[in-house]
Amino acid sequence: MLEQIIEEFSALPWQDRVKALEKYADQSIAFSTSLSYEDQVITHLIADQDTPVKVFTLDTGRLFEETHKVAQATREKYKNIALETYYPDAQKTQELVANQGINGFFDSIENRKNCCGVRKVEPLNRALDGVNIWISGLRRAHSENREELPIAELDAGRNIIKFYPLIDVEEDTLKDYIHQHDIPYNELHDKGFPSIGCAPCTRAISAGEPMRAGRWWWEQDDAQECGLHMVDGKLVRVKKG
Ligand code: SF4
Repeated sequence: MLEQIIEEFSALPWQDRVKALEKYADQSIAFSTSLSYEDQVITHLIADQDTPVKVFTLDTGRLFEETHKVAQATREKYKNIALETYYPDAQKTQELVANQGINGFFDSIENRKNCCGVRKVEPLNRALDGVNIWISGLRRAHSENREELPIAELDAGRNIIKFYPLIDVEEDTLKDYIHQHDIPYNELHDKGFPSIGCAPCTRAISAGEPMRAGRWWWEQDDAQECGLHMVDGKLVRVKKG
């Protein structure tokens, strides 16, 4: 199925790729949205077609208020989509904070990975349980180590096909599409935040900086990874660019 998806979907215009998933409607399809402008475009495309897709987001408990606002605006605009929210396990979160403090992720890479593990990876794994095709808004332009990404690949660790319908789409194209279709988007994107994660771990960037430079900015480049994207059972590193 993976080779078939790569061949079929690469040939399609990007606006038609989500709709073309109807051919795979017998599969369990899910879309994880961080409510970024890429993901808002995908949500819009999902709302405009009939194939059942589970749409979910992760609320780590440390998100920006602006992110919650766009989540609510998305619920109100796309009433035919049930945006599910997955939260960290309460007991594990309590233990995490007891062990390393509320902002312990600043102290070491290990602490940061622990925090991402509890607040992101475990809820993500719960959300993806039983899923066969996982739609994600990754684009090649996000960073150097994404330049070779195919339009779909196997997440061997989870045994799920990851599908990137916007893999080859430019930022300006997506922003034009958002304005043309009046799609809700995170106002932080207009304030120097091209990539938005948890509030304490994301800063605005300056002109000329790589787009992910504002994520985990206090760490060395080669230590940065969000823990969410795996290839061949290994974490795909997300460098500053
Ligand atoms: Fe914790 Fe920061 Fe990871 Fe969010 S991005 S889960 S606050 S370490």
